[in-house]
Amino acid sequence: MKSSKIKSKKHITPRNWTLFGFELEERLGDLFPVEETLNIFSDILKNQVPYDYLEIMMLPGSQGDDAEPSNWVRNDTGYGGKLLSIILNDRFIHGLPRRRQPAVISLEKCNATVTNPELLRVMELHRGILIPVLQGNRAQGVIMLFFQKQRTFDAETKRWLMISAQILYRALNRSERFFAAKKMATIDGLTGLYNHSYFMGQLQKEFTRARRYRNWLSLIMIDIDHFKEYNDNNGHLAGDRVLIRVAQTIKKSVREMDLVARWGGEEFALLLPEINLKNGMIVAEKIRKGVESQRFRNEKQQPSGKLTISLGVAENSSSLKTYRDMFKKADSALYQAKHEGRNRCAFVK
Ligand code: GH3
Ligand code: MG
Ligand code: MG
Repeated sequence: MKSSKIKSKKHITPRNWTLFGFELEERLGDLFPVEETLNIFSDILKNQVPYDYLEIMMLPGSQGDDAEPSNWVRNDTGYGGKLLSIILNDRFIHGLPRRRQPAVISLEKCNATVTNPELLRVMELHRGILIPVLQGNRAQGVIMLFFQKQRTFDAETKRWLMISAQILYRALNRSERFFAAKKMATIDGLTGLYNHSYFMGQLQKEFTRARRYRNWLSLIMIDIDHFKEYNDNNGHLAGDRVLIRVAQTIKKSVREMDLVARWGGEEFALLLPEINLKNGMIVAEKIRKGVESQRFRNEKQQPSGKLTISLGVAENSSSLKTYRDMFKKADSALYQAKHEGRNRCAFVK
């Protein structure tokens, strides 16, 4: 048959390039995190051009603000050593935009540019094709495909590989921007902590989960003492600097899994999974001491001669019906701490 002739081992015979293009556009049309986008891309490409090793390198500034190029690898050779760390020389990268087409490279030629040539040999990767990812006249990255069998690439294949690199680049850009914006919407701009609305959502979720699995959960509400006075004496900017430092102190005092948020103004909220009231009070006391022991500008003018915080703690006891009840209880405890003289931790029975 004629087609079996075309499918000689030396040539990559595309199923149908137009369908391949459609599939890429369609599958990558939805928004996925970057990792997922790269996974989908490499799957579809593998189907069309059965490579054995793929490495995608994006240059700094092309995705986010990473100072280092980011490499993503898919290794189907069955040999260990995931990453070959193919470092292309600068001349090649700078030549990419002018070239405007993929470069077919052989193992020997590769030796000069692969940091791990031994591994490359062990994996028996003979031929490679480097596809530039371009944005206008600038190189943004390279897609590197390697094959264990001898391959040649016709003009049509090269053209579609260039197109696929463009599709990938657009998809990566979309997901980067989308997920960065989504993250921004949950973060407080001044302190870098989670914001009020995100915290409320998480409180609701964690409260429900803790109830279902009969786990402890503690909530701590924190408020800076006499902060209006501090602002009046030192100005709003100095006040902002205090907010940032208090935020850092809270963050440093808790575990990775704990959720710290700026509740609003000079108030913070802290959610501690698997922590009961007794241990919640210990954490609260640690934070209180942490702030008290720091020196702040002009704090001597504060009513107590230093800058302090008050904290209210509540646990998810069975008498609390909803997360709102839990919040009310922690807030009452905070009120009590203020009432009893500030710079202290309190809870209500
Ligand atoms: P208390 O000990 O009872 O908490 O007294 P307080 O003065 O801290 O309480 P109050 O609620 O009367 O005042 C809170 C002050 O926090 C008002 C405002 O000056 C200050 N504040 C709120 N948000 C910000 C902010 O984003 N930046 C700065 N610098 N100050 C803020
Ligand atoms: Mg307040
Ligand atoms: Mg206050």
